[in-house]
Amino acid sequence: MKILVANLGSTSFKYRLFAFDGEAAEMLAKGGYERVEDHGKAIADGLAKLVDEGHLASLDDLDGVGFKAVLGKDLSGCVFADDRALAALEGFAQIAPAHNPAYADGIRQFRKRTKAPLVALFETSFYQWAPEALKRYAVPKAWDAAGIRRHGFHGASHKFIAERSAEMLGREDIAETVRQLYVDGPGDEPEEPLRVVSCHLGGSSSVAGIRNGVAVGSSFGLSPQSGLPHNNRVGDLDSMAVAVAMRELGITFDEALRQLSKEGGLLGISGVSNDVRDIAAAAEKGNADARLALDVLVKSIRHWTGAFAFEMGGLEALVFTAGIGENRADIRRGVCAGLEGFGIRLDEARNTAYSGGEADIAADGSSVRVLVIPTNEELVVARETRRRILHGS
Ligand code: ADP
Repeated sequence: MKILVANLGSTSFKYRLFAFDGEAAEMLAKGGYERVEDHGKAIADGLAKLVDEGHLASLDDLDGVGFKAVLGKDLSGCVFADDRALAALEGFAQIAPAHNPAYADGIRQFRKRTKAPLVALFETSFYQWAPEALKRYAVPKAWDAAGIRRHGFHGASHKFIAERSAEMLGREDIAETVRQLYVDGPGDEPEEPLRVVSCHLGGSSSVAGIRNGVAVGSSFGLSPQSGLPHNNRVGDLDSMAVAVAMRELGITFDEALRQLSKEGGLLGISGVSNDVRDIAAAAEKGNADARLALDVLVKSIRHWTGAFAFEMGGLEALVFTAGIGENRADIRRGVCAGLEGFGIRLDEARNTAYSGGEADIAADGSSVRVLVIPTNEELVVARETRRRILHGS
């Protein structure tokens, strides 16, 4: 079974083609186009290339296309990308302006070019079973009904971590729950709990609490402009902030929103860069703002880690993933510092020596395992697309 995963940005189209032999997946090809003005042309070129290079015998050889869609109005989960899914994407275009319109356009373009089933995996899917009290903002009912809720994002990545961490910790029962989650739902509670906090730290960052393979919540709220500080986007911010900035700085509403989405986050605090490598180099040389940016990130990760560990009643594993999580021993060290009282003991030699792959970097006696797991969001989209197609609607 051949599944194409399509990743669409406002000016980009990237793809990966997977071949499945039962549950086992192999990536056959990947490619993409930047500075795209016409998604239709880029998609047609990409499909033609897959045929020309022999990865597909013809377009009929494609069994499905999966989309890592961001969020939909009144719709989540792993669903066929039909008119209802398109309406849901367009209904929330305002919340994810760089992605939702691009996905809606891309889905329409694929429809014209292939008969293969199209499947949308919303990034919010993983939080479907989170308690209502953790999704609800303290807003009037009408706001909540308008979709002003904690939706959560990075669902594909945190779901990958939920499955792999369960496998690494010998909990095949929970790994199987995670695999079947979008088809069967959460199932029965196991006797022994597995409580994981997953820290996806990259250009966008989020922390998720995962109990027995099912997310209890995410640091992300209504939009990808929430939770932890991101590369150049603000994280959590008081709802009065925009009004105060407009008055004090004499800027318009649109300019305030632009600054929060382009000049905030680690870039905003450090004034140096949106890349942690540059920020850390500046901090080494004594730049106090750069140091502060890293400290704010670490404090924010600890804030959410603590919140979810408490909410879940304990912690068996703390997982780091994505560009910063996999590559920055200093950030991992900062997050774990002084947590021996909670059973978290990092092995500093393992932390520093880590250079790729999956690893347990906790000290031998640590009651909480500290794992580094490279994430694989595209593989999750491919697997879920296959399951949705095999299972039907
Ligand atoms: P995205 O969310 O855009 O996919 P990544 O997961 O690649 O981004 O994360 C980007 C962040 O990870 C940057 O702040 C960068 O500094 C950091 N990062 C990525 N690769 C490395 C590396 N090899 N060494 C150190 N830091 C890295």
